[in-house]
Formats: sequence, C-alpha cells, structure tokens
Amino acid sequence: MSTIPGEPWSRGVARSSEGVVSVGGVDVHALAAGHGTPAYVLDEADLRERATAYRRAFETAFAEVGAGVDVYYAGKAFLSVAVARWVHEEGLRVDTASGGELAVALRAGVPGAHLGLHGNNKSDDELVAALDAGVGRIIVDSLVEIDRLADLVKRRGGDPAPVMVRVTTGVHAGGHEYISTAHEDQKFGLSLAADEGADSPAVTAMLAVLARPELHLLGIHSHIGSQILDPSGFEVAARAVLTLRAHLAERTGVLVDEVDLGGGYGIAYLPGEVALDPDRIAKDVAASVAAAASELGTALPRFSIEPGRAIVGPAGLTLYTVGTVKPVRLDDGRVRTYVSVDGGMSDNIRPALYGAQYHAEIVGRVSTAEPVLARVVGKHCESGDIVVHEVRLPGDVRAGDLLAVPATGAYGRSMASNYNLLARPPVVAVRDGASRVLVRRETVDDLLALDEG
Ligand SMILES: *Cc1c(COP(=O)(O)O)cnc(C)c1O
Repeated sequence: MSTIPGEPWSRGVARSSEGVVSVGGVDVHALAAGHGTPAYVLDEADLRERATAYRRAFETAFAEVGAGVDVYYAGKAFLSVAVARWVHEEGLRVDTASGGELAVALRAGVPGAHLGLHGNNKSDDELVAALDAGVGRIIVDSLVEIDRLADLVKRRGGDPAPVMVRVTTGVHAGGHEYISTAHEDQKFGLSLAADEGADSPAVTAMLAVLARPELHLLGIHSHIGSQILDPSGFEVAARAVLTLRAHLAERTGVLVDEVDLGGGYGIAYLPGEVALDPDRIAKDVAASVAAAASELGTALPRFSIEPGRAIVGPAGLTLYTVGTVKPVRLDDGRVRTYVSVDGGMSDNIRPALYGAQYHAEIVGRVSTAEPVLARVVGKHCESGDIVVHEVRLPGDVRAGDLLAVPATGAYGRSMASNYNLLARPPVVAVRDGASRVLVRRETVDDLLALDEG
C-alpha cells in the first residue's frame, strides 16, 4: 500500500524494513522527538537537485537555439535565508514579491543584481528598498506604478531603474489544459488585447516606460498560471510576447533584450500523477520561441523563467501526529474514518482554498490492517478544515501515529496562518542523516508578544 519510495515523495524519503520512514537519512520518530509535530520537513538534497535540473534543462535547450536563459526561483513558494542561499548556490536567481521576501533574499547574500521584484501594488517603501538593493529588475504592473517608480528614481538620482512590463497574453493555464481569452478579468498585468484603432494596454505601458529617462525598458514579462501540466500554454504565451516585442521594435526601433516566461511548472501531488519534465518543457519552449523569432525576423532575446512550486514543493512534507480517530457513517452506508491531526488549514490552506488534493501515509510503523476510507482533518473550528479529502489508511490508525503528507514544500509554510491562534510549525531541513531548523516553531509567547493588551 505504501508508495514510498517514489513520487510524490522527495527523493530522500525511504521506508525501512520495519516500516519506519526516513527523510534524508533521519527517521520520522527522531524528527518528531527532536522538533515536535506538526513540522514541515525539507529534503535539502532533493531541493538542490530540482533547482539544478531546471537550470541545466533550460540552459541546455536554449543554448541549442542560441539563446541565454536565467532561472529565477519564485520565493513566494517558500523563502527562508537558507533556501535562498541554496538556490543561489545552485545557480538560480531569486524572484521576490514583497519587501519581506526581498529582505530575506538580501539577508541570504543574494546580490541585488540577481533579484527581481514583482507585485501589482508595490508600496513606495518596497520600490525604494528594491532601488537601494540595486535589483536587476522591477516588474511593473500598471501605468500608475510606472510613473510612481520613475518619480522615485528622479528624486533619489542614480541610474535608470531596470524595468520589465508584465503583460497578460490571454493564455491561462493550470491543471491539465490552457485556455485563451482576449480580455482578462483579473488584476495582474497589462493586456495585449487592443480596442479597434487603439494601442493595447501592454503597448501603452511600454511606451510610457520608454518615455521616462529614469527607467530602462529591459523586457517583457508573462506568467500564465500555476500547476501547469500541459506545456502548450507556455508556447502560445511566448509567441504572443515575442510578437509584441517585434511590434514595439517596428514602432520605436527598440528591440527589448529580455523576455520572462514566468513560472507555474506542475508537480505530482498524488501517487500516479506525473510532474512536468524540465528537459521536455525546456526543449519544447526553446523550439517554439526559436521558430517564432525566425518568423518574426527578430534576434532572440535573453529569456528567464520563474519556477517556485517545482523546486520546493516536492522537496517538502508535513509531519503530523494523529489525535482522534472517528468513524462516521455516510448516507450511502459507507463509513468514513475521520483522522484528526495536530495541524490543519493553518499549515496547509490549499485544500480549503483551491480544493487541492493531497496524499497521506502512516509513516512511523508498518501495519497489516485492512485499509479504510479515511479523511485527514485538522484541529480548527471549521468543517472545511481538511488536509486530505480521501485516502486509504490502515484500519488500525490510532492516536500517536505519525502521519506524513507529501509535496507540501510550496505554499504550505508561506501561506500558513495563525487561525485559532495556533503557532505556526517549524521548517526543518534534513540532509545526510542530520536535521536542522531553518525557521523555528512559533510559540504562544510569540503570539502574545504581538498583542498590545
Ligand atoms: C507565483 C508566481 C510564480 C511561481 O509559480 P509556481 O507555480 O510556484 O511555479 C512565478 N512568477 C510569478 C509572477 C508568480 O506570480
């Protein structure tokens, strides 16, 4: 019944002959005893391998068509000082989306030139922090921001700020397919769709950047979605962006140097799911951008991509301790076993927020009991507090069992809350038989420290 080793578990996850699971050579009993539960456990070697795999795949495939490429780790998936350092050591740059993410990446020693700043509503403080850090790119998302940023640069002096304009290509992806619409009803980016006889918002924004000497128009940015398993969306979006780039060159004589194709590379969450293969996607996208540039008669730009989930998601698991176990009879006569763990929607909001599906296994022992239909739930005062909707667990699952949920490295800790005033779990890294805390467990004192009484 166990799916270990194999996807969706990180490569360092193994099960001993006694049935005890280990990560990076540290068994789950030692992790629970040393760090408590719930805890996010990050497999450092696995994370580093995935970072390198993405970088190598894209560098190789794009070199074959004569283009350079940079890989930015999307820090919003999970960022700590150690993780920023690891990905930078593996040759990645770091994408940030707030002053907080920027500060963590800088604390890790990532040079400003290797950082990007995103956001549809950056504050002046965030923009100034990015300018102070000398970030390599600020991805602007509105006309208002373009003027605001240029004014800030004008006031403080110095070099023009390197700017990419975030565009919406109409391509939306996520899950298994992409859809394409002209006008997008969402807050991000500037649309490529133009009204009859008018410039598109994307063109207007690029002209606005070119009109301000305080800004340097570095390139165009497009991010089409998340958890994408069908690569064709990337190709369609890339073609649209290259077409826009050629159009701007005809119009103004400026052929921008860089194109960012965003993130969203899908991973396996459940046994049997297959992650997007970086080698395959890199080859497909490189071939289609090369074809598009040649049809357009323009030289290839330098490219960049921004994987987040694909680097950190599969490297992480959440370790919980089972508390109560409650059989509930359903209308159709079946029995569902509700297994409550010591965390829940505060450490993994994705099931409640997106209906995301996860897998779970009892990892502290082997069981020969018949599997039962189970639902893993948290300890919050909310019936939607579900960690795993449906999973088969051994019929003798009981209080004190250690239960692990794989593929929680991305958007777990980074989206965690203090709902019900639960203290957020630690992030523990494992490697070569040793564990160390990257982000410590919050305490009730931490929570009380914020409360001014
Ligand atoms: C969220 C986001 C990413 C990363 O998405 P993943 O699905 O984690 O790969 C990259 N770029 C931008 C602009 C994003 O908003």
